[in-house]
Amino acid sequence: MTIKVKRALFDKVMVPNYAPLQIIPVKGKGSRVWDQNGTQFIDFAGGIAVSSLGHAHPKLVNTLKQQSEKLWHLSNVMTNEPALRLAQKFCQKTFADRVYFCNSGGEANEAALKLARRYAFDHFGDHKYEIISFRESFHGRTLFTVSVGGQPKYTEGFGPIPGGLTHLPFNDLKALQQAISGRTCAVIMEPIQGEGGIIPATTAFTKGVRKLCDQHNAVLIFDEVQSGAGRSGDLYAYMGLGVVPDILTTAKGISGGFPFGAMLASEKIAKSFIVGTHGSTCGGNPLACSVVETVLDLISSKKLLNGIQAKRKRFITGLKKINQKHNTFKEFRGKGLLIGCELNDAYKGKARVLLSIALENNLMILMAGADVIRFAPSLIIPDNDIDQGLENFEKAVEQFIR
Ligand SMILES: *Cc1c(COP(=O)(O)O)cnc(C)c1O
Repeated sequence: MTIKVKRALFDKVMVPNYAPLQIIPVKGKGSRVWDQNGTQFIDFAGGIAVSSLGHAHPKLVNTLKQQSEKLWHLSNVMTNEPALRLAQKFCQKTFADRVYFCNSGGEANEAALKLARRYAFDHFGDHKYEIISFRESFHGRTLFTVSVGGQPKYTEGFGPIPGGLTHLPFNDLKALQQAISGRTCAVIMEPIQGEGGIIPATTAFTKGVRKLCDQHNAVLIFDEVQSGAGRSGDLYAYMGLGVVPDILTTAKGISGGFPFGAMLASEKIAKSFIVGTHGSTCGGNPLACSVVETVLDLISSKKLLNGIQAKRKRFITGLKKINQKHNTFKEFRGKGLLIGCELNDAYKGKARVLLSIALENNLMILMAGADVIRFAPSLIIPDNDIDQGLENFEKAVEQFIR
């Protein structure tokens, strides 16, 4: 028997680490979502940059159906066809020589950080363990990744946290120059900081980071969990920056919504994960890998990637029009379909209020910190839905500033 559930049940049976909105969506198609009452929403949130091909994409549905009737799981005691096909595609389409599969972005970063330490240990000795990351960065919620992340509020009360971590200001090459040394084993950065407020790394900074890493034999890790999988308009954001990392992590958008994460690495560095050093029971399972293979095929298309810039333009033009009338935002930033709208000082700290009002106006959006509204829609959101969503957004903005 199916029990009828309401939002109130969440507050009784779930651990209270989330505060979900009051609606419960039950169905999605493309960039539209319906809740329990049949109310329709335009989706500019994309499940936090995860539903990169919208909801219930026919090709993804078909792949999942087909694979679900063949084989779900084996564990890594055996390999499987979808995992091998997918790994080969990642190696063909990116800098990577080797691939490690897991189930989330946090796990992919956990693997990347462990691999960087192990590589330094193997080649340079046990004094080379320091990891440099950047303030306002976000790398996941495991104790290691949350400690490497640049927001102290996320580690408060969870100590003692892992040691050997240094946090520096983002886009500040001088600070890195001063902090990096022979003891540094890795520098980890997001090519576009997501949770921290949609802040792109400058090309000069990124190139400088690469150079300093080379000078000090430090591994450069790009966390592309949010910026990757076509989101920036390139298949991975590093491709648009002209800087190649040693390790790259991907999850969120590459999964299309089926839990998945991966760490991509060069041959030289990957070699340090010898048999027994790391693992994940469900990592690389056939269900996830077959879905991700289909996502990767679809988002690699030139036509899709080119479409992203046109869609961004449509968003920014519409947003600027709204802002001319209502003067609510300081700046629109980001790349591709990762769009940050920073609120004017008069509305500082009020992103959550606008988010709730948008929902009342049938629009799902995100925030990135308390001052920034974030859009991370489907990469193939129809122009019609962009226009309709922006119309809803304008209504929300009008109510918000009233
Ligand atoms: C979301 C995110 C993560 C964490 O991914 P999970 O799948 O939630 O573990 C890590 N890094 C970045 C840049 C992210 O945006």
